[in-house]
Amino acid sequence: MKVGIYGGTFNPPHLGHTNAAAAACTVLGLDKLLFVPASLPPHKQLSEDAASAACRLEMLSIAVDGLRFGELAEVSALELERSGKSYTVDTVSSIHEKYPEAELYLLMGSDMFLTVQNWYRAGEILAECKIVGFARSEDDSAQKLKAHAEYLQRTFGAGSSVIALPNIVDVSSTRLRAMLAAGEDTSAYLAAPVYGYILRKGLYGTNADLKHLPDSDLRAVSHSMVKAKRIPHIRGTEETAVLLAHRWGVDPDKARRAAILHDCTKYLTLDEQLKLCEEYGIVLDNLERETLKLLHSKTGAAIAKHVFGEPDDVVGAIYYHTTGRPEMTALEKVLYLADYMEPTRHFDGVEKLRRLAELDLDRAVAEGLAMTIEEMNGRTLPVHPATQEALNWLKGNVL
Ligand code: ATP
Repeated sequence: MKVGIYGGTFNPPHLGHTNAAAAACTVLGLDKLLFVPASLPPHKQLSEDAASAACRLEMLSIAVDGLRFGELAEVSALELERSGKSYTVDTVSSIHEKYPEAELYLLMGSDMFLTVQNWYRAGEILAECKIVGFARSEDDSAQKLKAHAEYLQRTFGAGSSVIALPNIVDVSSTRLRAMLAAGEDTSAYLAAPVYGYILRKGLYGTNADLKHLPDSDLRAVSHSMVKAKRIPHIRGTEETAVLLAHRWGVDPDKARRAAILHDCTKYLTLDEQLKLCEEYGIVLDNLERETLKLLHSKTGAAIAKHVFGEPDDVVGAIYYHTTGRPEMTALEKVLYLADYMEPTRHFDGVEKLRRLAELDLDRAVAEGLAMTIEEMNGRTLPVHPATQEALNWLKGNVL
């Protein structure tokens, strides 16, 4: 088994880090890659505006969750849970204990690679791991790195090597913090959900007004609140909601913002959901109290209103997007349907529903409601009364 170890302050984690990690996974054929954020780095001071350890851990988890090779990668809190300075020798020895049979590869950019021989108990680190260095910028000479690998080999007998990155992302966290504070565009260097997290938490002097975010920032923030695997669904819902809004004379901006936020509390636990309901005075019935799927639309609506300052009609669309209700507004219908039939949804009848949504919004919503009721009945799960009432209302009054 080959295990990579990638330490750093990750303050914040950027595409330079993840790009190098991806290349290392491929070139070395790693079976596992551990990202290890430092608590107190021995070789540099954490910046004055540093994010807390908990925030750095969360940002790194978000960055890693979105990676193509995400299933190999894991974020380790090993150093954050240890007191005192975060010496790599201690980290390597803990990982060695956990994976006694594994070949360990310690990954690092040129700045670290060229000085690793000076680290605390470097000999022990080099005895336990192969050191793998890579360039951080185009100015890093491949020759110099190679010569250093040979020096390490000669001096410590360490199996060290250099890997060439297919593309270099020349950025540092220090530069990014300055760019964020200055309100500059960081999209070439930061994964959008990591940027969204930074905005949401107001890190690095961003101080964004969450109640007046432009669509692109609202999208990044929303994507930072969910698992990466849900993002294609949210994007699909947004795209479909806007198309349906244009088709049916609904405000496309409102449809877009409702879609962007509709699942923002999807991954909260039942306890977290109930706590939000208490905080925002959301009255629940018995079924809602124990059904996460029903709760997330209520709490998502509350967050849309109280955190992101969305108007009541957008909030209502989010509130009813799972169950529907009698007298649904056109915006509510649009979000309900978009969520149901966006392009990543695959189920029998979805194509028919998509065609129907082009021709008749009400019939399409009724079809969606009826399919939900049928599915829930088939799985002997309780159907929320609002869903049946919505269907009855459409049949009795609109169709
Ligand atoms: P700071 O600017 O705050 O000092 P940093 O950008 O150097 O931070 P760290 O978290 O300290 O980032 O670095 C962790 C590891 O990632 C180190 O081994 C570093 O050499 C490497 N690294 C950092 N930036 C890049 C980059 N752009 N490309 C490749 N490797 C990088």
